[in-house]
Amino acid sequence: MSNLQVLLVAGTHGNEINAPWVFNQWKENQDLIDRCGLKVISVIGNPLAFEKGTRYLHRDLNRSFSLDLLNSEKNTDSEISRAKQLLALYGPSGQNPSQIAIDFHSTTACMGSSLVIYGRRPVDLALVSLIQNRIGLPVYLHEGNSSQKGFLVEAWPCGFVVEIGPVPQGSLNSRIIQQTFQTLKICLEEISKSITSKSCFPEKLVVHRHLKSIDFPRDSSGQPIAYIHGDLEGKDWQPIKNGYPLFEYLNGDIVNLCDNSFIDEVFPVFINEAAYVEKNIALSLTKKEVWRFDDCWRDAFYALINS
Ligand SMILES: [Zn+2]
Repeated sequence: MSNLQVLLVAGTHGNEINAPWVFNQWKENQDLIDRCGLKVISVIGNPLAFEKGTRYLHRDLNRSFSLDLLNSEKNTDSEISRAKQLLALYGPSGQNPSQIAIDFHSTTACMGSSLVIYGRRPVDLALVSLIQNRIGLPVYLHEGNSSQKGFLVEAWPCGFVVEIGPVPQGSLNSRIIQQTFQTLKICLEEISKSITSKSCFPEKLVVHRHLKSIDFPRDSSGQPIAYIHGDLEGKDWQPIKNGYPLFEYLNGDIVNLCDNSFIDEVFPVFINEAAYVEKNIALSLTKKEVWRFDDCWRDAFYALINS
C-alpha cells in the first residue's frame, strides 16, 4: 500500500470562503466526500485571516514559501510563521508528511474552474493531465514571473492550485461551492486510481502558458486612471489579438493591446481580479499550447506515489 498522503488546503486567502466552507461541512459529515482509500489531511491555510475575513494579516501567505522568507529569522509576519508551521506539520519532511498539496482558491474573475501549476515539474504535469483528461479544465502554467514567487504548492513535491470563479470575496455561492466540491472529489479519485494503476493518461495536455501581466494605467500617485474595457470584461480564456481594447478612460480614450512580440492570438486570464490590484496586475496574458504527453511525467508521478 502506498504511503502517499494528500494535503488539501483552503482559505490560504482568508476572504476566499467557499472552499473552507466545504471543508468545514466535510469535517462535520465525513461521508460527504469519499477519500477513495487515500490518506488525506484538510486544513485552513490562513486561519487568522479567515477569522477576520481578510485576505491576509501581514503579507500574502501564497507568496510566503520562498526559501529566503522561510529562512529569515527576523521576519515576524504571521504568514511567514504560518508557512513554517504548515511545512513543519505537513511538509515533505514534516511530522506528518504529505507528498501532494492541492490548494483551493476562488477568484473574482470569470475564470470558471481551472488548475494552476508553477513551472514544469513532471509530477505536476502528470497529475493535471489526468484531471484535465477527466473533466477538461484549463491549465494555467505560471512561470517566468520573477515578481511573483513563493507559492504554497511549490513547497511540496507535487501540487497545484484549483481556482474557481467568479465569486466576490467573502461571499458563499452555490455554483462555486458545487464546483469546489466536484473538483475536490475528482482530484481524490484520480490520485487514488493512479495508486491502483487504473490511470488513463491522455496523449496531450493543453496548457495556457503565462506570457506577461499588464497593470492598469495609473497616475503619479499610483491610482488607476482607466478601467477594464467593457469588451474585455468577462472574456477570460477567450482569444484576443493586437488591437483589442484593454482599458478605457472616462473621456472615452482607449488603450488597445499592442505588443509586437505577439504574432498570434493570446488568451487573457484573471481579468480584473480584485485581489491583484495591489499586485499591479489588471490581467495576465497566456499562450495556448498543446503538449504531447511525455511518459517521463507518468514515470515521475508513479515514483512519487510509490515512494
Ligand atoms: Zn486565492
